[in-house]
Amino acid sequence: MPPEVLAQLPTGLLIDGQWRPSTSGTTFAVEDPATTEVITEVADASSEDAAAAMDAVARAFPEWGAVAPRERAEALRAVFDRMTARADELAAVVTAEGGKPLAEARAEVAYGAEYVRWYSEQAVRVDGLARRAPAGTNHQVVMHKPVGPAFAITPWNFPIAMATRKIAPALAAGCTMVVKPAQLTPLTTAFFAEIVREVLEERGLPTGVLAVVPSSSARRVSEPILGDPRLRKLSFTGSTEVGRTLLKSAADGILRTSMELGGNAPFLVFEDADVEAAVQGALAAKMRNAGQTCVAANRFLVHSSVAEDFAAGLVAAFEKLVVGHGAAEGTTVGPLIEAAAVDKVEELVAAAVDRGASVLLGGERPDRRGYFYSPTVLTGVDREAPTVTEEIFGPVAPIVTFDSEEEAVALANGTEYGLVAYAFTRDVNRSFRLAESIETGMLGINRGMVSDASAPFGGVKSSGLGREGGEAGLEEYLDSIYLAI
Ligand code: NAD
Repeated sequence: MPPEVLAQLPTGLLIDGQWRPSTSGTTFAVEDPATTEVITEVADASSEDAAAAMDAVARAFPEWGAVAPRERAEALRAVFDRMTARADELAAVVTAEGGKPLAEARAEVAYGAEYVRWYSEQAVRVDGLARRAPAGTNHQVVMHKPVGPAFAITPWNFPIAMATRKIAPALAAGCTMVVKPAQLTPLTTAFFAEIVREVLEERGLPTGVLAVVPSSSARRVSEPILGDPRLRKLSFTGSTEVGRTLLKSAADGILRTSMELGGNAPFLVFEDADVEAAVQGALAAKMRNAGQTCVAANRFLVHSSVAEDFAAGLVAAFEKLVVGHGAAEGTTVGPLIEAAAVDKVEELVAAAVDRGASVLLGGERPDRRGYFYSPTVLTGVDREAPTVTEEIFGPVAPIVTFDSEEEAVALANGTEYGLVAYAFTRDVNRSFRLAESIETGMLGINRGMVSDASAPFGGVKSSGLGREGGEAGLEEYLDSIYLAI
């Protein structure tokens, strides 16, 4: 990371609009996964710090909820403008702590900033309803108000976008928020939070509306916050396993929850597909962040008549990828996030090979420092292999063949997850049939990317509850009040 960017990064806890050290006086290290070198140390929040952060956002809530929607909107728009002006610096931080190539980091910053812009536009468009009651005796008026103080827990794979997708709608709706960033990537969130703090201060708005508490122990921070009766909402993005635990804790406080959890995205290529377009879509759906995205294509389900062409195309495309440090010129695939991630990917590839899969490309760790794994294509993969049934979170593409649409749909649905699916077909009727028959929150037709700040992002089954983005993302932070008059 450029030294001038590092020098400006806040490394404390943001509570009551002030950056401060942890009450325990301790810090934890943040590492560059491409080199395993320590970038810097960050304050390690204690349970007292977490309680103080919760208290700060609870105190700030009445004032922020009363700020005019237009003022909230304009503050968010100013945050968007500043993020855009400082996009290169933000991207450098994303790459340094998360490993993704700079071009991808810039794309994430732009995507994350879009949530801020979209919710700056939505803040003044919170609709209500007025109508005569069916019995004709009175009228019904429905108004909306902010849910209250909220708590966000974010993952490491999109350190800026997963934060803005929660913070922007919360602030737009009039909620205040404590954020606990992932331990592996707290720096980007700190940079973004400082932009928000500066903008609020310059405009004379309350700066305590956003608190940030990085910690080496998630539970040490989450327990006091979840146990505070003033908390009204929990928004979590991360693994299904942790989501389940948090839902149980949220039950005690009867909290509103948004849960963006794991995925196991099927990528279907039908016999009538444009195979070259499918290969390009596969690159986008599989290789962003070296395969470490919740929407990463996890299983390539390909009609047997085009499977050979598709596999050859994928190998040719993967061969052109350049593995390296995300900040190095020309890199298209960065490292995985940590050593355990490489071990897991290695085990999943070995499990597929044990069950008869062929390695067409990769299947090894490149000989270099850092947490790297080579882009890998596997064919003849057993449908029950863990490589297909579990979230891979690495640059590995397992190909499984099918012979009919019914079989493809059954395979696609044969998982507890239902976040996103991709399908390549020239048949419009089939596209609509798939939208009805595949158990998924999102479906990309002839494209390998679906995410958009203005669209509802989220899953069904074990992939989660609620939606982020679009109109739905704001509703997650609003309660309705029905007035009978
Ligand atoms: P994770 O569940 O391990 O961690 C996510 C966050 O939860 C981190 O901040 C972590 O510190 C915190 N956490 C962990 N244990 C906790 C506990 N007991 N109590 C409170 N907080 C706790 O997930 P991860 O490894 O950071 O992220 C990868 C996972 O996130 C994948 O499964 C991926 O599919 C999922 N994800 C989902 C989406 C989505 O929108 N559906 C987006 C990105 C990532």
